[in-house]
Amino acid sequence: MKNIVLFGAPGVGKGTHANILAEKYDLIHLSTGDMLRAEIEAGTPLGKRVETAMERGDLVGDDVVIGLVDKALASTDQGVILDGFPRTVQQAQALDFLFANHRRRMDCVISIDAPREELVRRIHERALISGRTDDANDDTIRHRLEEYDAKTKPVTDYYKVSGLLVSIDGSGEINQTSMRLCKVVDILMNRGK
Ligand code: AMP
Repeated sequence: MKNIVLFGAPGVGKGTHANILAEKYDLIHLSTGDMLRAEIEAGTPLGKRVETAMERGDLVGDDVVIGLVDKALASTDQGVILDGFPRTVQQAQALDFLFANHRRRMDCVISIDAPREELVRRIHERALISGRTDDANDDTIRHRLEEYDAKTKPVTDYYKVSGLLVSIDGSGEINQTSMRLCKVVDILMNRGK
């Protein structure tokens, strides 16, 4: 059972690639962004608590997303691909505990990298079809990227130290990035078979 984190800035394509990999390798795709949007859509108390922060492009509280991931991990015995979590060093530390509690091991953190202008271009493109309010507003997009630089980027150092981080170039077409990702995941899947 493999457990993978797909890491990267807003707009880099984590959701798209997590979907492709989940299907190809029979993994459960866990996206904290999708979980939070589902809570908002359903009008739950948790959804109401996070709605304003998400609209502004702020990160929501660590406790909220850690709780959601805990619940999701408890609901399956399959390998998972995490998308959008962890986004802070505290979340990365909590994930170590969650994996240990759920008798899982982290196999790899794959960071997808792309230049800033490309991220902004992709978010604008996605706004046309996603209906996401946080994709449609320039100030919110800028703020999400600031949140990434300040709070999420340092997570790479956390995983570099443990030797779990692999970085791949995500600046080109979807299928080029997908091929690079599959090369990494193929190796993981064959390891310790
Ligand atoms: P995403 O769909 O991953 O781009 O996430 C959309 C928004 O959900 C983010 O801008 C945050 O407001 C919130 N969010 C998603 N995942 C997390 C997380 N792990 N920690 C904090 N906030 C998150």
